Amino acid sequence: MHVRSDAVVLFGVTGDLVSKKLFPALYELTRRDRLDVPVIGVARSPWDDQQLVTTARKSVAEANDEIDDETFDALARNLSMISGDYADPVTYQRLAERLRDAERPIFYLAIPPAVFGAVVEGLAAAGLADRGRVIVEKPFGRDLASSQELDRTLRAAFDPQRVFRIDHYLGKEAVEGLYAFRFANRLFEPLWNNQHIDNVQVTLAEGFGTQGRAGFYDTVGATRDVLQNHILQVVALIAMEPPVADDTDAFREAEAAVLRQIAPLSPESTVRGQYAGYRDEPGVRPDSNTETFVATRLTIDSPRWAGVPFHLRTGKSLPATATEVVVEFKQPQQPLIRAEGGAGASANLLRFRLGRGDGITMSIQAKSPGAEVASRPVDLSVDFGVALGHRQEAYERLLDDAMDGQHLRFAREETIQQEWRIVEPILDLPAPVQTYEKGTWGPADAEALAGGWHTPYL
Ligand code: NDP
Repeated sequence: MHVRSDAVVLFGVTGDLVSKKLFPALYELTRRDRLDVPVIGVARSPWDDQQLVTTARKSVAEANDEIDDETFDALARNLSMISGDYADPVTYQRLAERLRDAERPIFYLAIPPAVFGAVVEGLAAAGLADRGRVIVEKPFGRDLASSQELDRTLRAAFDPQRVFRIDHYLGKEAVEGLYAFRFANRLFEPLWNNQHIDNVQVTLAEGFGTQGRAGFYDTVGATRDVLQNHILQVVALIAMEPPVADDTDAFREAEAAVLRQIAPLSPESTVRGQYAGYRDEPGVRPDSNTETFVATRLTIDSPRWAGVPFHLRTGKSLPATATEVVVEFKQPQQPLIRAEGGAGASANLLRFRLGRGDGITMSIQAKSPGAEVASRPVDLSVDFGVALGHRQEAYERLLDDAMDGQHLRFAREETIQQEWRIVEPILDLPAPVQTYEKGTWGPADAEALAGGWHTPYL
């Protein structure tokens, strides 16, 4: 067991991520007796301790139906603030002074990537990197070269064993459930290959737009924001070979191995869209060619997956918010039972619902009622919230793991570089994006790409 972190430092404590995710996670960890160490917020804004506590309370209140005062007060007692410029050595000297009793602090870089370098260097110069862990958030660069550059910056200050790269999808219980589904059940693994699976679809749909962050989003787009990380992470879990052992290294190696087998995406098999009205949003360039939607086809060059297309799509302002993987099986080799009404039989589908209301739905053929021996699809479905009860939030688990020095749910350096290698050919394509109306499933060409998508279950 690694030594648990004995202080948490949140750079960018005034920002969106801390407010939405990290304060609620710290509160939950305090509630579960997993956190009773100094939590130091750092930002340029001239906040005092009281302002920090007030903001923390507000965000915990937004994430919970009610606040347990005893728990919150215990967290509040540990909170303190340092305001300062990231380029000023005094900021880090004050931090070092505050951390004088901490042997293994953890630094969470909840700041724009442009500032990572300055903060990492500041920590190193103040002698804090030698004994600390660091958590970095996506985006890990803008492309392969810049992600390698970021790794060099981190490695210059921190031992690789003490760097934690968050793709919060890896922390979601529902996503981790893909791994459990595949390797804890005997039922499907024999079918999990190109003999029996026809195609796989992954949809990560957002029923909302840029939510006031259009200026930031316009420099990123759907490929960098979602496809390169969350979707490829899901693909890796669906497609990976069984790890050779039940340990972190074997799991991360199996994940990286399948990514190595994925061919770079091709512009010809990619459709990029932008919802109507996006260019009028504040912060968006009037001639922006940033995609708010991308659909693409991926292939995996392995004996297991040769010939099985993986269709991937993500976008903003779509008809719903949903994350779903649909595994479509092949038809029976020799169909003996007609589909009801003479229509073509629909295939067996396995749907992994990974968003809100997560669970699994399996569409099977059942005999339709009546004299005719024909079949119709019916669903076998489980809602994990109902079947399993409360599950932990991703950030709560990830912070807990990183404080323990556990890497299982964090992306390896190579994994991220493989992800960039895969998406690189479709980054910044010069062809104009296709406009789609808000509330639709993206441009019409995207529909044709997959030969029809399965609409997510809501
Ligand atoms: P914000 O844009 O809210 O910025 C966080 C804080 O950083 C701000 O409150 C600001 O604090 C400080 N900051 C902003 N610009 C600069 C600058 N140029 N120089 C120094 N400090 C600056 O970011 P988020 O909280 O949204 O995200 C933080 C990190 O997490 C980013 O890397 C982002 O990509 C990543 N992320 C965010 C997600 C989210 O849901 N928000 C999801 C996934 C990843 P102050 O001015 O007080 O110093």
